[in-house]
Amino acid sequence: MKSHIALSSPHLGENELNYIESAILRNEVSNFGENLMSFEKKLEGYLQQDSHVACLSSGTAAIHMALVQLGIGYQDEVLCQSFTFSATANPIIYQGATPVFVDSEEDTWNICPIHLEEAIIDRISKGKRPKAIVIVHLFGMPAKMNAIMGVAEKYNIPIVEDAAEALGSKYRGIKCGTFGTYSILSFNGNKIITTSGGGALICKSKDKKEKTVFYATQARDKAPHYEHSEIGYNYRMNNISAGIGRGQMQVLDKYVLLRRKVNVFYKTVFKDVKSIRVMVEPNGDYYSNFWLSCIVIDESAKFTTEEFRVALEKENIETRPLWKPMHLQPVFKDYPYYGENVSEKLFKTGLCLPSSSNLTEEDFTRIKSVIMTFIQHF
Ligand SMILES: *Cc1c(COP(=O)(O)O)cnc(C)c1O
Repeated sequence: MKSHIALSSPHLGENELNYIESAILRNEVSNFGENLMSFEKKLEGYLQQDSHVACLSSGTAAIHMALVQLGIGYQDEVLCQSFTFSATANPIIYQGATPVFVDSEEDTWNICPIHLEEAIIDRISKGKRPKAIVIVHLFGMPAKMNAIMGVAEKYNIPIVEDAAEALGSKYRGIKCGTFGTYSILSFNGNKIITTSGGGALICKSKDKKEKTVFYATQARDKAPHYEHSEIGYNYRMNNISAGIGRGQMQVLDKYVLLRRKVNVFYKTVFKDVKSIRVMVEPNGDYYSNFWLSCIVIDESAKFTTEEFRVALEKENIETRPLWKPMHLQPVFKDYPYYGENVSEKLFKTGLCLPSSSNLTEEDFTRIKSVIMTFIQHF
């Protein structure tokens, strides 16, 4: 069997092991220490825009912390991009709130500002003013932030920005992860950089960051004994994981360029294939980290998306359909939804392709040859 080519695999740099070792030598193996402080500082310096970063155990935990701090509770409504990974929406349910799903638009595949406003107007008319808007930069492509922020400001609704897939992406020169009232990152093993598992909540003030750390470390009030006046969580990142993150920050810029090169590779591969469109940046406002490179196969093509996927799978090359929209998921199907069928159609016709920053020349050659052999069949 030929070696497996994954969709997105971890890619370690040179210094991760040193930072882990120094944490062990210092006996800083719990949830405080030099790695954690330094990793947060590096992220703050990288993101700019007065970002205050609290590192947590996962991106999902970060979204949960954002909702807790926005005071989202039982029976509140939260608007949420439907075309995303389930982790974007699950924390809304953790809080006993109701997700209201909104469709995507065609240019970025992210939340459609027009349907967003339509949803807000309709929920308000039903006496349910949405408490937050959760937006996503899917596959690394920045959402239409100008229009989205315009709608959010008009109705004075805070934005939770899920930038789990978009560290290194920019909209109009500003880094993704800095647009929300709260923004989140993920360092899961398949993301552009990893801490083996982890995430971060990006806050707009030092106070909010400190409050996040307070909630994430069991909400202990100041007292010699354990005193609690609020419900806490065990969500803080550990100092070993943060050591991996510190090493990964040194290679992040390089990995963004490598993932962008993967996207150029696919553009070249499919240049003369009329029935396949590679997802690209709509215009100069958008700079994607191309966490995953994606294609859409025309419904009039002589082969289906599934046939294409299976042909690559047989050669041990992993591809995956785009995210199945939340409003089509069995667990979420009864919640309100606003939109047409942009995300549904993308789900039916789209595929994510291998996009790791550590693909070798040999991998590229193999991928291209398998794709070309398949397409020449038709
Ligand atoms: C990965 C991901 C998350 C969740 O992050 P974890 O660190 O795995 O909990 C949330 N939203 C999106 C869009 C993601 O891709």
